Amino acid sequence: MKSYRKELWFETPNRRAFINITPHVEECLKESGVREGLVLVNAMHITASVFINDDESGLHYDFDKWLEKLAPHEPVSQYRHNVGEDNADAHLKRQIMGREVVAAVTNGKLDFGQWEQIFYGEFDGRRRKRVLVKIIGE
Ligand code: ZN
Repeated sequence: MKSYRKELWFETPNRRAFINITPHVEECLKESGVREGLVLVNAMHITASVFINDDESGLHYDFDKWLEKLAPHEPVSQYRHNVGEDNADAHLKRQIMGREVVAAVTNGKLDFGQWEQIFYGEFDGRRRKRVLVKIIGE
């Protein structure tokens, strides 16, 4: 069995962002040489997510609005976590958007439905953060 591991680094200029990382994961898959197996992609930080959805800017706007309704950033004083920091909302947003995705690899490709794409969801950006890509298979 082959095993492959890589860390992808991101630094978003804003506090919140969604980045389509599918091309990076496809590059990792090519490097791994795995034709049949599984790929795991997870955020290595507790204020960021990895998830699968549509690459459509209206939807990304809707996600951001929805998450801000559920866990508004301001006022930061509303959260018990925000003692000496201001990212409680980012922890909550990450929790609902998820830590990781697992995708099937078939015939050397991500075995996706038509509109499925992998995203990095940043909720407390403006610093360097990592995503882990682990691929196993034959
Ligand atoms: Zn925190």
